[in-house]
Amino acid sequence: MPTLPVDFNAQKLPSVQSRFSLAMPQDPVQGIGMRQVSDALYSLVSPTSVSQPQTLLWSSDVAFDLGFDEAFCTSEYFAQLMSGNQLFPGTAPFATRYGGHQFGNWAGQLGDGRAINLGELPERNGRLLNLQLKGAGPTPYSRGADGRAVLRSSVREYLCSEAMHFLGVPTTRALSLVLTGDKVVRDMFYDGNPEKELGAIVCRVAPSFTRFGHFQLCAYRGETELLKELIDHTIASDFPELLQTASEQASGEFTLYLRWFEQVCRLTADMLVHWQRVGFVHGVMNTDNMSILGLTIDYGPYGWLDSYDPNWTPNTTDAQMRRYRFGQQAAIGQWNLYQLANALLTVIDDKDALQSILTDYAAYYDEQSLAMMGRKLGVQLNKGEADSAFLDELETVLQLHETDMTLFYRLLCNFQPEDSLSDIVASAFYDPQTLSADTKDRVDAWGKQLSQRIQVQQLDAKQRKAQMQKTNPYIVLRNYLAQEAIDLANQGDYSMLHELEEAIRDPYKQNPQFAKFAQKRPDWARSRAGCSMLSCSS
Ligand code: AMP
Ligand code: MG
Repeated sequence: MPTLPVDFNAQKLPSVQSRFSLAMPQDPVQGIGMRQVSDALYSLVSPTSVSQPQTLLWSSDVAFDLGFDEAFCTSEYFAQLMSGNQLFPGTAPFATRYGGHQFGNWAGQLGDGRAINLGELPERNGRLLNLQLKGAGPTPYSRGADGRAVLRSSVREYLCSEAMHFLGVPTTRALSLVLTGDKVVRDMFYDGNPEKELGAIVCRVAPSFTRFGHFQLCAYRGETELLKELIDHTIASDFPELLQTASEQASGEFTLYLRWFEQVCRLTADMLVHWQRVGFVHGVMNTDNMSILGLTIDYGPYGWLDSYDPNWTPNTTDAQMRRYRFGQQAAIGQWNLYQLANALLTVIDDKDALQSILTDYAAYYDEQSLAMMGRKLGVQLNKGEADSAFLDELETVLQLHETDMTLFYRLLCNFQPEDSLSDIVASAFYDPQTLSADTKDRVDAWGKQLSQRIQVQQLDAKQRKAQMQKTNPYIVLRNYLAQEAIDLANQGDYSMLHELEEAIRDPYKQNPQFAKFAQKRPDWARSRAGCSMLSCSS
């Protein structure tokens, strides 16, 4: 594959390298043939060229961090690079090997079936960021699938990962979305009616794309030395702060590994607390979709709660079991960490220590969750029965009448101790006319409990409101909005995509320009595919 001339448009193209592929053992077999890969963590594989790459979206924010200017990002070369038709100098593209538990069952070898890693580039602040093209063609891990992605799923990945970033949720990011000019066949409803859809490629960006499943597959295959190499590499490149502590260096390998695992548990818990804060349901929390850095990764059939319902999941594949429902995400996080711990056990021979870290995960999650709920409600909450009952009652109250989660919390920022809560949050109810007197009373009774806390804690009203508005977003990427933008994009109208891209950049600001994106889900979207039900087909 040809590489670009080093000088383009006065912008010197940086050279791309990968610490992962330089340090980890490489699959000796060449080509994209489907295979089980042993004793290696990646396979060299080139993107398959596409016919007519066209940049549809690029993140000025990510581009700025990488030192790319507008002229470059709107150039033909950029589209060529972001589609994999051309490569940055020095690139040796590769797909990595990982396994995972899917919906609770061990699935064996999975791997980057349609994501091709380009390598790392330095950010302005010096940190290295990995670039990965999702949908760039088949790899040895494609398991018979085409290695491609369609516009609808690429738009969902691009917009949502950027929305999450601006909401302050740890996530992979998106540098670009290019249309390939080629069609991709997908049976979206798995009902025997495949259709041709527009193909697209997202360039994802993250400090690391390492997943729990990378460690799990080494352990499953009995590759203990390789597992140890991967742990050492991960700590050195993604957790260098652990090595900087002199006491860690002195205390030996086991202690370092345990401290690292504890850190992974905490990062995972932090991410999950954020998901609960903003009403995000990942939809496919398989261990191959869990980032070792606690980043939200692999945006598939995810969704945002419109009406508050802890049992909701957008993923039609999971409609029966609801394993990955909103209210179960923290418990699944712990289950996934158990699977990671099981894998690590072959290297960290200290079951009790691992068990105790996993037990601490639950306590740490509860602590962080309580603090987060306190910020959402604008009061200090304490561990113990009183505040636990107060939060349980909120959970019940939110489900008595169909209530929009985002609107409820945003309106709650206006609540003063003397107010009637049901009046303040009236526009968050989906059908305010049918709100029963009993429900209204119960909402108000809970509001009184909140008032008491505000009064006892003598909080400054202005400060309280400002802090609540920084916790409770005005704009989230509502499922139906993304779908409307996708429907238009499929017809060649990209205006709503660009508007949404702008709106998600400042999600805590009550910007009247974007008021139309801060409304309850319309009735037509209640049961429409793409708005409330998503399949894994992407
Ligand atoms: P996901 O459900 O998107 O997390 O994907 C699960 C596994 O299937 C991963 O190994 C993916 O790389 C792979 N995969 C998903 N879609 C495709 C595709 N169109 N072509 C090749 N591999 C795929
Ligand atoms: Mg995945």
